[in-house]
Amino acid sequence: MEKQMIDTLVGVLDKRMNRQLKQYMDICARCAICKDACHQYVATQDIKYLPARRAELIREIYRKYFTKTGEFLPALFEARDPDDNMMDELYDSTYACTGCRRCTFYCPFSIDNAWVTATAKGLLIAAGRGNEILGELTDAALFKGDNMEMFGPIIADGFRDQEKELREEYGRDIPIPVNKQGADILYVALAGAHSIKPAAVIFDEAGANWTISMFEAANYGFFYGDPAKAKLIADRYMHEAKRLGVKEVVITECGHAYRVAEMFYEAWAKEKMPFKVRHILEVIDDYIADGRIKVDPKAIKERVTYHDPCQIGRNGGIFEQPRNIVKALATDFVDMTPNREKQWCCGGGGGIVAMDEFDKVRIKSGDPKVAQIRATGATVLACPCENCRLQINELNQVHDLGLRIVPVMELVVEAMVPKGTHPAAQ
Ligand code: SF4
Ligand code: SF4
Repeated sequence: MEKQMIDTLVGVLDKRMNRQLKQYMDICARCAICKDACHQYVATQDIKYLPARRAELIREIYRKYFTKTGEFLPALFEARDPDDNMMDELYDSTYACTGCRRCTFYCPFSIDNAWVTATAKGLLIAAGRGNEILGELTDAALFKGDNMEMFGPIIADGFRDQEKELREEYGRDIPIPVNKQGADILYVALAGAHSIKPAAVIFDEAGANWTISMFEAANYGFFYGDPAKAKLIADRYMHEAKRLGVKEVVITECGHAYRVAEMFYEAWAKEKMPFKVRHILEVIDDYIADGRIKVDPKAIKERVTYHDPCQIGRNGGIFEQPRNIVKALATDFVDMTPNREKQWCCGGGGGIVAMDEFDKVRIKSGDPKVAQIRATGATVLACPCENCRLQINELNQVHDLGLRIVPVMELVVEAMVPKGTHPAAQ
């Protein structure tokens, strides 16, 4: 690797070297407790997927350029320059990491290896080795947002078509308000009717003052590892939220989009937003608790289990609201073991479902999740993240699990007691 490129990579690392990252670089005890926490290592037993090994590659550069011992005695202190072999290994282990942070939960020092792999993505992008497909999807999203005069009418037509479908399905008007000034809620959905129609039914039933905008929740810039582009993608709906004067932004059933909006955006924008951000399941849980919507407690009689998507659960702190909802409408709910903070990643996060080159490790790394699901005996799996659903659908086919895998919103709509028949409507 040329000196100029090495200097560039060291410069990228230097720019990201805050106290937190320095601590992660300095304190790993090499206890290897994290190896039993990572679904990829557990399923493959391949050293490159061991969480501490992933981080070790960055540590080798760190020691060489950010510590005196590594600078002067590199062989003794395991310090080295980045080279092409290192970048190859870094690419494989970094883009395979789903960012689930199960390793962080089990690490005695809470070393956030997902944070370290985010740093690794920055290095890979600077070296021209960022994942191609994630890069293209990121740029496509930016292009779409920059060309709304072209895409806007197509998106608006899609909303109108969905309203027609809702009218046919429910025999009444269920509006999908677009860019409604003064709405209380800006609902940020994924592209596709599955993310919009159930929410429209629920908001309508609850009598919510809501709107949708032209901009969707998915953020490939986040998966790709480019915070500047990730911010630009999120800017679109955040700026709309400000322009429309909403009180809250509600993110659809999507893990990474929720974290981007709730946990990263204000830091990226260096600005406090004049509204709160909530996940749609937090809102629905409140609607049910407040009697604004009513669900039949015996609506779903099959055994139901719930998958905690890593970005919503372990990384987002939303554990009870989805369980409250599912328990309110199913007679036979069984939690997986372990669950909540300890839930196994399904193997489909971090954008890995979009990268064919990782298909083999992705499917294999679903083994712990398959065992968990099987042990519940459930035939319905409620799951509020699109990437998890894609992955578990594939696991369902590969392992013949016989599961119905559904977003929580769809179960709510399935179980909803028709308008006019519950106390809130009297
Ligand atoms: S569990 Fe933490 S301290 Fe132990 S090897 Fe893994 S990252 Fe290092
Ligand atoms: S964040 Fe998840 S996939 Fe990545 S190393 Fe940790 S446990 Fe493994």
